[in-house]
Amino acid sequence: MKFIDFNLHQNVFEGVEAMGFEEPSPVQKLVIPLAIQGKDLIACAQTGTGKTAAYLLPLMHHLSINRSSKIKGLILAPTRELVLQIDQQFQGFAYYTGLESIAIYGGNDSSVWEQQRVAIERGCNVLIASPGRLLSHLNLGYVDLKELEFLILDEADKMLDMGFVDDLVKIISYIPEKRQTLLFSATMPPKIRTLANKVCKKPEEINIAVSKPAEGVLQAAYLVYDNQKNKLIAHLLAEKELDSVIIFSSTKQKVKSLVGDLVKAGFAAKAIHSDLEQSVRESVMRDFRNRKFPILVATDIVSRGIDIDNIGLIVNYDVPHDAEDYVHRVGRTARASSTGVALTFINPTDIQRFARIEKLIGDTIYKAPNPESIGAGPAYEPGKTKGGNRNYSKSKGNKNKNFRKPSGHNKQSN
Ligand code: ADP
Ligand code: MG
Repeated sequence: MKFIDFNLHQNVFEGVEAMGFEEPSPVQKLVIPLAIQGKDLIACAQTGTGKTAAYLLPLMHHLSINRSSKIKGLILAPTRELVLQIDQQFQGFAYYTGLESIAIYGGNDSSVWEQQRVAIERGCNVLIASPGRLLSHLNLGYVDLKELEFLILDEADKMLDMGFVDDLVKIISYIPEKRQTLLFSATMPPKIRTLANKVCKKPEEINIAVSKPAEGVLQAAYLVYDNQKNKLIAHLLAEKELDSVIIFSSTKQKVKSLVGDLVKAGFAAKAIHSDLEQSVRESVMRDFRNRKFPILVATDIVSRGIDIDNIGLIVNYDVPHDAEDYVHRVGRTARASSTGVALTFINPTDIQRFARIEKLIGDTIYKAPNPESIGAGPAYEPGKTKGGNRNYSKSKGNKNKNFRKPSGHNKQSN
């Protein structure tokens, strides 16, 4: 099946060609025909599978057939980075359609608020918004969603995790019941199903997500004490020709201190976290995307949905709190069909949590021995069942289909 087979409006199809998309991804093959038919959908597929185009193209198709000057489409997404990224894809595909979108997202900058207000009053075809900020505009009365026909919830699981459920319900109260609703999520926990049943009408379900990192990601973990982490990071970074590396950490404080240490050690690293001004965050993301510097140290906030291709190495400086976040983070590496390496640092308190991740992905992740200069770390004994020592036999690692030895990271130390 090719894009031409969807019978998209000619102007939309030309946008697809201009974007260089040749073959639809599996989720696109399933979603696009149903969405063109006007069905409500719940679609679950892991990060990097092309969900954005799966909903943008049918939306643009409908809007190109029935032109209107009213706001007909609303796309809700959890973070401003994601909103901006969706907006960029929209602009790309919409080039030949004349359709217009406005990105609505939060921030401290009052001039941005004013720009958003003016843009809304001027009008557009589609709003792409984070829930909190859209609700603030809605409450002031100048956003007219009475003619809305298409509602899309992207990264619905993340929106719920971030506590947007009440905002979503309020926003939806402004929208006509007669509409098409598409809900996208990387995971499908029960609370998403509950939300979906509330906002969708007899939705078709599309499920191509198993909670597993994309194929092609080479995963390994190191067992370390906290005071070994920075040494290990410096060691790993120094060993490789670095292209693009993202290091995820759980807190802003850790991100700030790690980036400081890396810069002191001579690495070109920058941080992204929610304390930074929005304009700074955007320019950091842009520069990283454009390969102006190789190492990005980030909090969870950029772990989902942000589309940066060909990340060579992901480091989980801490084990992610949410097992699903592991999958999302690791999904940053092998976008489309490239390959990447994902390494996780496990300290003693995170062992149990990491065991849960292995359970979720249904696989044992190779525990790489620490480099000699770092010294031995704690033992990996989640249930404390098997007796004694660190338990990462090489045969076990080789049996694991996800494991290939990340080059240069495994100086044998024991
Ligand atoms: P998701 O939302 O599922 O995480 P995205 O929609 O962000 O994934 O797509 C991931 C990347 O793959 C993006 O860079 C996107 O431009 C690209 N992509 C998506 N679909 C295709 C396709 N059919 N052909 C080529 N590239 C694609
Ligand atoms: Mg997405």
